[in-house]
Amino acid sequence: MTPDEFRKHAHDLVEWMAGYMENVETFPVKSLVKPGEIFDKIPDNPPQKAESFDSLMSDFDKIILPGITHWQNPNFFAYFPANTSPASVLAEMVIATLGAQCMIWETSPAAAELEEKMMIWLRELISLPSGFEGVIQDSASTATLAAILTAREKSTNFSGNTEGLGKSGILKVYCSEQTHSSAEKGVKISGIGRKNLVKIPVRSDFSMDPEKLKEAILNDKEKGEIPCCVIVTLGTTGTTAIDPLRAIGEICRDNNAWLHVDAAMAGTALILPEFQWMLDGKEYIDSFVFNPHKWMFTNFDCTAYFVKDASLLIKTFEILPEYLKTRTRGKVNDYRDWGVPLGRRFRALKLWSVIRTYGVEGLREKVRNHIGIAAELSEMISKEADFEILAPVVICVVCFRYFPAGYTENQINDLNEKLNHQLNDSGKLYLSHTVLNGRYTLRMVTAQTNVTIGHVQNAWRLIKETARSLIS
Ligand SMILES: *Cc1c(COP(=O)(O)O)cnc(C)c1O
Repeated sequence: MTPDEFRKHAHDLVEWMAGYMENVETFPVKSLVKPGEIFDKIPDNPPQKAESFDSLMSDFDKIILPGITHWQNPNFFAYFPANTSPASVLAEMVIATLGAQCMIWETSPAAAELEEKMMIWLRELISLPSGFEGVIQDSASTATLAAILTAREKSTNFSGNTEGLGKSGILKVYCSEQTHSSAEKGVKISGIGRKNLVKIPVRSDFSMDPEKLKEAILNDKEKGEIPCCVIVTLGTTGTTAIDPLRAIGEICRDNNAWLHVDAAMAGTALILPEFQWMLDGKEYIDSFVFNPHKWMFTNFDCTAYFVKDASLLIKTFEILPEYLKTRTRGKVNDYRDWGVPLGRRFRALKLWSVIRTYGVEGLREKVRNHIGIAAELSEMISKEADFEILAPVVICVVCFRYFPAGYTENQINDLNEKLNHQLNDSGKLYLSHTVLNGRYTLRMVTAQTNVTIGHVQNAWRLIKETARSLIS
């Protein structure tokens, strides 16, 4: 493809992109294809001869698009969002065009220095302590793995990296029963072992019970085991419960355990002064992760990972083969030493584009609006006698179920599961579920970039009608 041909295709593609953004609501939110349907439509062998880009795009429309779940449709209420925004997409186009691999400072100084500055902007925006340093990771799972590995090395005085874990004793990691599965994954990969992850019971609001944590740690210490790391979640994936940071932080301080905070979704709410209460006790934090690629309008992937003492992180990950030695080492940030991969995309440009084009006020307004919509939805649900709210609505997730009189708990669970599938199969909205205290729970997240109260009112009407039609 020549630059002139590229120019023509790129202009056409931008038309396609803008059209998609305008029309995204006309697609079924959740893809309705069957397993294997897309696979079977793609030839078993690659073409021997070059094909035109136009033929590719035509197949894209016919074959691929029906197999896409439209996360940017404002009727996407499932999981947590993976929001994008025009500013982020534009930056992503530039990133792909530059194709810079930003593993060390020298391989693109602007990428390293913009990243350093963007992490300062974010740190100030969410009011983390001023000594914290940040790095962009590909996902919260990777950041949590980095935290567990750093905690492991600190606990073993860095002998884990050199000797392996044979002589280190039994390291323990603690999190709540509601913690994201990435904690378990990290503990498995780290060599600490899944059975050394202790899941602490939660209180009635689904947040970690600090008394139970203290008991567990003291118990383990009595057995000669080593409390290595505690994971606090601000905004659990099920219900956005907020673990009590200060109480847990004091326990970590008293027991010399690393305190990692997973705020993957709810971290964005920290840009609002009225949500700073979640960070009460922040002086105890060792590491902190949140995902601008969830709720801060920056397309996947872009995870912000902050540490109190960057030297511990670097000491855990540092490698220095001859071919990576540079004259600037030690004077600049070589981010390859701040995480698992060597190669790195120029993700800071997306953040720069998003934060500048929204402005802090614009970001705050959008996030506040989403939180307000959740409150309104929760009120609408509470007014109906045959529905009930199943968890406190803290930020922008509403957990509820259909609860008509005269049915057993099992029947109610079956009804709600059926309701969830029927709604999702309609293509009109997409909800996901969790199970809370044995109850099948519908989760509705009102945080897609372009969601409005109108979308949520329509969705609620459909939910009520569909639910009641199931028993009539
Ligand atoms: C989404 C989520 C994660 C995982 O995020 P990835 O970036 O997809 O790895 C971890 N923790 C919490 C609380 C989450 O909501």
